[in-house]
Amino acid sequence: MDVQALTDAKPVGGAGDAAQPAFLDRLLEAGLLIESGVPGLYGRSAVFESIADGLNAAVTRIGADQHAEVLRFPPAMGQRDFETSEYLKSFPQLAGTVHSFCGDDRGHHRLLARLEDKQDWTDQQEPTGVVLTPAACYPVYPVIARRGPLPADGKVVDVLSYCYRHEPSLEPTRMQLFRMREYVCLGTPEQIVAFRNKWMERGQALGRALQLPVELDIANDPFFGRGGKIVADSQREQKLKFELLIPVNDGAGPTACMSFNYHMDHFGELWHIALPDGGVAHTGCVGFGIERLTLALLRHHGLDLSRWPQPVRETLGGV
Ligand code: ATP
Ligand code: ZN
Repeated sequence: MDVQALTDAKPVGGAGDAAQPAFLDRLLEAGLLIESGVPGLYGRSAVFESIADGLNAAVTRIGADQHAEVLRFPPAMGQRDFETSEYLKSFPQLAGTVHSFCGDDRGHHRLLARLEDKQDWTDQQEPTGVVLTPAACYPVYPVIARRGPLPADGKVVDVLSYCYRHEPSLEPTRMQLFRMREYVCLGTPEQIVAFRNKWMERGQALGRALQLPVELDIANDPFFGRGGKIVADSQREQKLKFELLIPVNDGAGPTACMSFNYHMDHFGELWHIALPDGGVAHTGCVGFGIERLTLALLRHHGLDLSRWPQPVRETLGGV
């Protein structure tokens, strides 16, 4: 999907209720999201988190048969691993790097003088070798690669991470820091295709159990620049990415709330992930956008959880 520019929030209500405040304003007024002064950077209330927890628990329940290895990483990775992932080749516009003050007393004085004079002080910061995680599955590949060849029946990893993408927007569904829950599959092409087919079915079933209007469609990632268009077209042609779309924002098309990705041997080659016979492993992942799914539920069932349909609350473990 296209990276969207900073847009004015559209009036909510669709059903002709133009007088109702925008969805983002309603979320802020209800205290479900908490403003930070930066578009796409919000605090979350206990109620918002209870829905997010319910979603995560539901994903764990439907994924129990995967016998996945649970791995949790902080929302950052080392610069070297980030470079190896080639993220900057495809999505330089989305990446976020961590910088810090590394100077001496004189440097500190300079920094404080800049602040005092209300001048830019950020050029006094230096790279730390830490980069924010752009997708929850990225830290998994180097870890599995280091362990040596994969087991014969492949491997499934369960990850959950806050992810950073520099795409400031006033659409509440497009945040700069958000959680992505993923199952990542590493193995033969047949294993990945079967994994992805299974999860496309399960993703739709979860959407239906949550009584959300879902639609599955072919998609592409927002590859950067002129060359990026060719890569995106080829990704679509080869049906490497599917998204589960749900209408959330008014005056805009439906939002991708889950994605089902087949990377072929891209990460296997980059990280030298080997099959038992020495061949290059293929990989795929299913990603659940925890904030987007939470917002979809709030949008369709209302901001008062006590009025949500009982089966939906039960699917979420009784929110
Ligand atoms: P989009 O096309 O809308 O930019 P995507 O489908 O390319 O998103 P993926 O890279 O597939 O996103 O990420 C997996 C999931 O993470 C998405 O399906 C979505 O639910 C969630 N996600 C992606 N970007 C954001 C964002 N900026 N804010 C909130 N959730 C996001
Ligand atoms: Zn992934």
